[in-house]
Amino acid sequence: MKKVDLLLTNALIVTQDKDRSILPESTIAIRGNCISAIGLTKELEGQFTADKVIDLNGKIVFPGLINTHDHLFQVATKGLGEDMSVQDWVTVVTAPTAANITPEEIYTVCLTGCLELIHSGVTSVIDMNYMAYTFGLHDENIHAIVDSGLRGVYSSIISDYGLQYGIPEYLMRPTDWFIDQYDQLISKYPPTERMAVWMAVGAPWTVSGEGLDKSLAFSKRTGTPMIMHIGENWVDNYCSQDRFGMNSVPYLEKIGFLRPELLAIHCVTLDDEDIQLFVKNNVKVSYNPVSNMYLGNGIPPMMKMRDAGLQISLGVDGAGSNNSQDMIETLKVAALLQKVGAKDPAVINAQQVLDWATLGGAQILGLEDQIGSLEVGKQADLFVIAPNSAKVVPIHDPVATLIYSCGQENVEMTVANGVILMEDRVIQHLDEDEILKKSQAACLALAERCGSDSKVKRSWIGNRA
Ligand SMILES: [Zn+2]
Repeated sequence: MKKVDLLLTNALIVTQDKDRSILPESTIAIRGNCISAIGLTKELEGQFTADKVIDLNGKIVFPGLINTHDHLFQVATKGLGEDMSVQDWVTVVTAPTAANITPEEIYTVCLTGCLELIHSGVTSVIDMNYMAYTFGLHDENIHAIVDSGLRGVYSSIISDYGLQYGIPEYLMRPTDWFIDQYDQLISKYPPTERMAVWMAVGAPWTVSGEGLDKSLAFSKRTGTPMIMHIGENWVDNYCSQDRFGMNSVPYLEKIGFLRPELLAIHCVTLDDEDIQLFVKNNVKVSYNPVSNMYLGNGIPPMMKMRDAGLQISLGVDGAGSNNSQDMIETLKVAALLQKVGAKDPAVINAQQVLDWATLGGAQILGLEDQIGSLEVGKQADLFVIAPNSAKVVPIHDPVATLIYSCGQENVEMTVANGVILMEDRVIQHLDEDEILKKSQAACLALAERCGSDSKVKRSWIGNRA
């Protein structure tokens, strides 16, 4: 008998392997962080012993979901600045929060965001901080991701330009300051399969020409991938036309920014020519449907991007433009938004959405050989759905059940890197209640300190504006 660490038996396993095999009455054997075996429970019985055996009794196992866009610190802004224009919302809520949050607060707030990601089946997150005015903010944001047990990428926005476009001066520093920060970050946190530092630019018109050149040169020299919001709404091309005399995507192609190491966020306003430039340069895409709807930005042409062969993934975006970090909700909305955009329910199916959230995300992370599907030799990143609620029953097709019927409350277990982060909906390695209490107090104090709460009417405590 072979010894493993964890046996999950009697499960319905949605593998996401190349044949999209779904295995009934099956077992996964996990040793360390690796999947040692997957197969029929009756065939694997007697082959393995394990420290921990969990009989899943027909529950459904999926590969861990990969959230490719987030601003974890924005958890602090849930419920502030609702129903505003994007520009007002940045000025009144998110920018002051980024500029005032302390290292201790960012740790608690980011950890809170990670807890919800774990509750919604996520095992990997790509995070983007706005501004770390002390190095401790980088450290504590990264520590929160690492302590949560998620696989993570951390980045922080480079911004040295854009006063005329409403970018607050207090979020800017000279590019050399940002490059120096990245130099320190990459030597302190060299890339591993668990954690990596990537570079980030808010939008092309928020960095000077010299700053863009220096950032690109640093990215190429160090092999550090780059993340950028591109075409989030009409403002992007408006500012690019004003500053560069052309739309954002052609400008980025002109200056050499479009390349396989670029992850483009949102892409709502991309036209056919932009998509062809993305294809030519193999740019990766993160689709954030809840945020696109929440901010009234529009419907990204995901079907055109898919048909053009682009690598696509899914993100929840920051809680400030979503109001939760619920990846299960994002799965459903990802499909619904495209259906309504095309006025055609057949334009996208549940399998496509699951592919984006698993295999697509793994490609974006460059970990397609490690995660994204449940196969022998890959890392044990998975979550378990308990189909025991009126919301879910009956199950005819487990993939359709996940995308269209499940809620966060149906996610019973999450395992990342072979470690059980949540079992029976209880976080295993952290005191969730204590973190939530601390987070509530920290977020109220922060909103008051940075003045964002005084701009927001709260009928239950009176309008303080
Ligand atoms: Zn964003």
